[in-house]
Amino acid sequence: MFVQGEVRASLKFECGRCLESFPFPVEATISQMLRPEGSSRVEAKEIELAPDDLDYATYSGEELLLESVVEESLLLSLPMRPLCSEDCKGLCAGCGANRNHRDCDCPDSTGKSPFDCLKEFVVKER
Ligand SMILES: [Zn+2]
Ligand SMILES: [Zn+2]
Repeated sequence: MFVQGEVRASLKFECGRCLESFPFPVEATISQMLRPEGSSRVEAKEIELAPDDLDYATYSGEELLLESVVEESLLLSLPMRPLCSEDCKGLCAGCGANRNHRDCDCPDSTGKSPFDCLKEFVVKER
């Protein structure tokens, strides 16, 4: 059995920077070969002749459970590190405010780092 289709879903993600949840539209194409669980050896032989790059899933009984097939293809199209937007400013390290919504006056939020003093360190050429 060959199942083909498209899945569109809107999932809720948590932004990796500001921790705010945002909707993320996912689209996946499904093309999956299915064979009955515990199919006979003759069938298995036929399957071996099929292209190698096709994964076979199994189903049992009269019912076809597409949940795992859909789930798998959706997982493949998910981002590794979801961000609400590419230029998300994230949370302030000082007060935890979402800097997409408001700027705070924390001294920590001005981008100072312990290495800033190195910027004033100038090597003089002679
Ligand atoms: Zn964000
Ligand atoms: Zn702050």
